[in-house]
Amino acid sequence: MALERELVDWVRELDEHDLRQLQLLIRAHLERQTGTSGGGEEKVSLRSQMVRCGKTECTRCPHGPYWYAYWREDGKRRSKYLGRLIEEG
Ligand SMILES: [Zn+2]
Repeated sequence: MALERELVDWVRELDEHDLRQLQLLIRAHLERQTGTSGGGEEKVSLRSQMVRCGKTECTRCPHGPYWYAYWREDGKRRSKYLGRLIEEG
């Protein structure tokens, strides 16, 4: 699995709680992948996204970051919502 430099830097910033969450997500994703596609090399990239809640009186927008995993499966671009791995400041 090839890790982008950006992703490696991001993982280094995580504390123990975040790392354990990420480990669980990766394991679950790997098991699902190997169960359906018979394994194989894949490249997963993580992207963060700030989200607006839409409330006009909200002073904390945008919220997040919320994390998404992107990968290719049978030539198609797939994505999965991972949730908020890092607490809001
Ligand atoms: Zn808001």
